[in-house]
Amino acid sequence: MSIEEIFTSAKISEPGLGVATVYRTMKSLIEAGSVVSITLPGEGPRFESAGKGHHHHFRCSDCGRVFDTKACLGNLRRLVPRRFELTGHDLTLYGRCADCRA
Ligand SMILES: [Zn+2]
Ligand SMILES: [Zn+2]
Repeated sequence: MSIEEIFTSAKISEPGLGVATVYRTMKSLIEAGSVVSITLPGEGPRFESAGKGHHHHFRCSDCGRVFDTKACLGNLRRLVPRRFELTGHDLTLYGRCADCRA
């Protein structure tokens, strides 16, 4: 979730909440290790629970929400130039979510 999404949903139960409090809370959750920050290309930071394991993200081009994907492409070594060493990868899928398709 983005700061704006967290702020909007938290404000429902806590109407007096300020956005600075959300920033401070996310910072301390990251420091405590329970939340990690992710950044999609060309976008501001988003936050998700730590310890989810290897996964990727799907960004809806209509509503802008980001969802976790369960699968990974797996062996990407065939894309790597000869004699190069692959140490990681990052993958973002784009499209329309089920809500926006409905
Ligand atoms: Zn959508
Ligand atoms: Zn992967």
